[in-house]
Amino acid sequence: MSQQLQSRRLRQPIVVVLGHVDHGKTTLLDKIRGTAVVKKEPGEMTQEVGASFVPTSVIEKIAEPLKKTFPIKLEIPGLLFIDTPGHELFSNLRRRGGSVADIAILVVDVVEGFQKQTYESLEILRSRKVPFLVAANKIDRIPGWKPIDTYSFLESIKSQRKDVQTQLDNYVYRLVGQLAELGFNADRFDRIRDFTKTVAIVPVSAKTGEGIAELLALLAGLTQNYMKTKLRFAEGPAKGVILEVKELQGLGYTIDVIIYDGILKKNDTIIIGGLNGPIVTKVRSILVPKPLQDIKVVKTDLTQIDEVYAAAGVKIYAPELENALAGSPLFVAENEQQIEEYKKIIQEEIASVKYYNANIAGIVVKADSLGSLEAIVEGLKQKNIPIRLADIGPITKKDITEAELTLQEAKEYGIIAAFRVKPLQGIEVPNNIKLIYSEIIYQLIDDIEKYITEVRESEKRRTLDSLILPGKFRLIPGYVFRRSDPVIVGVEVLGGIIRPKFPVMKKDGKRVGEILQIQDNKKSVDRATKGMEVAVSIKGNIMVGRQIDEGEILYTDVPKEDLEILLTKYKDIITDDMKEVIKEIINIKRVNDPTYALGLKV
Ligand code: GDP
Repeated sequence: MSQQLQSRRLRQPIVVVLGHVDHGKTTLLDKIRGTAVVKKEPGEMTQEVGASFVPTSVIEKIAEPLKKTFPIKLEIPGLLFIDTPGHELFSNLRRRGGSVADIAILVVDVVEGFQKQTYESLEILRSRKVPFLVAANKIDRIPGWKPIDTYSFLESIKSQRKDVQTQLDNYVYRLVGQLAELGFNADRFDRIRDFTKTVAIVPVSAKTGEGIAELLALLAGLTQNYMKTKLRFAEGPAKGVILEVKELQGLGYTIDVIIYDGILKKNDTIIIGGLNGPIVTKVRSILVPKPLQDIKVVKTDLTQIDEVYAAAGVKIYAPELENALAGSPLFVAENEQQIEEYKKIIQEEIASVKYYNANIAGIVVKADSLGSLEAIVEGLKQKNIPIRLADIGPITKKDITEAELTLQEAKEYGIIAAFRVKPLQGIEVPNNIKLIYSEIIYQLIDDIEKYITEVRESEKRRTLDSLILPGKFRLIPGYVFRRSDPVIVGVEVLGGIIRPKFPVMKKDGKRVGEILQIQDNKKSVDRATKGMEVAVSIKGNIMVGRQIDEGEILYTDVPKEDLEILLTKYKDIITDDMKEVIKEIINIKRVNDPTYALGLKV
């Protein structure tokens, strides 16, 4: 190959699949892989780890009936699909300020429409700046749909009944609407003029295969047309990202890597991120699955290769990989200077994700990879949940100490959030700290949010329950049931609230006793508010007719501290009538205590 040709070579775009659970991500990937195996020529498929390659010849064969609609001459060698769908692995496909993925398929069940994880997927695609198209999946479930033996949606739709076509349109319009709400212009792919401005919706069935032709043709066409610069292959040392770190029996630790640029060779010096800083090591072997004719055979048999060209998914065996960090970049260095440069880049990148601030009463987050930690921190920031410590690795003594320090300041943040990590051996998280574990990023964030709200509510209830609140009531003339020891009278609540145990005072500030019980229609109640007429028993050294009279107005005797808490922390429970009562109580109390409610706003 001439130098010129080589420099013009394009690599395979890297494709990821995201979407809500059960919307068909796995089935779609299986269908694409299966189709590729059936349609390929012998020797055409390369073997990948963590990814599947669909060669251009296969795409062209499947898209043959579309030639008139999509007159694209493909220059890319094919498409590289990341095998594991969903957020979790996607978050490890990180690359400074973006993603290693070139394009994404957002799978949406056409009948169900957008669901929680569809929104979350879009959010993460937006934050990593990954373009996407929507696979409106499960079209075969539209009532009346007649599966046609074709990979082409356009061919199949022609044979469907009018009402079925209309129903599909309605579903697609709903998706268009849901995307519009999020600021995306979208349309069915065959109605789009400018693909740079409009998100393509491709109706597919991962089950029957209808629509797979258009899906593949669009993925190939769009990436080739709009991402040429990004896809230009550099004939230099490899760059990649670690997807997963795995221990292989009989071999030791290995890393599964996606190479997105350059060439990786056996014996290359690589620099990667590690738990305790950058790791510099030498590639002992590059491993890929043995070529198979049938994808049904599990890909476990590995074989060694000497070099690999981007884009590719490979397993690397090298010394010192046990502390390697998934989500970290991988660089091949050709000299000492490059080693130092890359070490610095990796250090900076790890530092940009990790976090510690001893002045913040916030939660402790521990995750198993750089990518997941980054995604979790982003998610928590969006929800305004403060973080004290964010780090990678198992839960340690330090994490517990930090959570305990937070606990002293803010009970609701006394949390250790663990994403796919456990406490170190011998370390036990004490009961007063909430350990929240999950293997799903958004589940973890949801659980954290739920716990914080719960603790806040219960704290609020607890404090609010113990507060003496402002209340004003009048002894209704003619309703004295007992004159003393205790006094039992009928009262009308004029404002605020009265509850058992609240102390009671007269208009001149003199304490008359404490409310024992409140009865509404002969039933004990724990509160009475404005407008209610109830029977109240008051314990104290008083007698109706002496210290207090029928028709007299009484107030709850609100302590200074209680009023302060009410006015600062629980303003939202103050009703208009309670506000008036507060003003009156302040006037009464100020006579004896000029500092009562001083500086507080009612
Ligand atoms: P994931 O959780 O998004 O990976 O979803 P799966 O691929 O596991 O699919 C969930 C369920 O939907 C499975 O029972 C699939 O068989 C079914 N399914 C997926 N795609 C289709 C489709 O196009 N048509 C129909 N009828 N069922 C589908």
